[in-house]
Amino acid sequence: MSECLFCQIVAGDIPARVVAESDRALAFYDVAPQAPVHVLVVPKEHVESADAVAADHSGVVDALVLLAQRVADDEGVRDSGYRLVLNVGADAQMSVAHLHLHLLAGRRLAWPPG
Ligand code: AMP
Repeated sequence: MSECLFCQIVAGDIPARVVAESDRALAFYDVAPQAPVHVLVVPKEHVESADAVAADHSGVVDALVLLAQRVADDEGVRDSGYRLVLNVGADAQMSVAHLHLHLLAGRRLAWPPG
């Protein structure tokens, strides 16, 4: 998926502020942070969205959550708490069609979100 923004970040063709990496996932700071800590965790393989996760993507969501835990630890927010968000489709305002977990933390986050 050479035209996919996050595939290009995974490939190193577009720069990003990478904070952590595993064999299956990459974590980098969001360019437009919505919280003091706002990191995106993406699978290295191209998956369109959470709605496209299928049996042959076995382990892909686990890989995102496991790397998010490590990022939360490294960012010092694992104990204070953090929010993990998966946007899917237009009404959720998903803007990049590559599965990604938002890790938001560093302040008391409003609930429900707007
Ligand atoms: P979503 O709206 O759930 O699709 O989230 C996409 C996120 O990607 C947004 O929060 C954007 O700010 C973020 N974003 C877009 N381009 C980049 C980029 N080049 N590097 C890091 N984050 C980006």
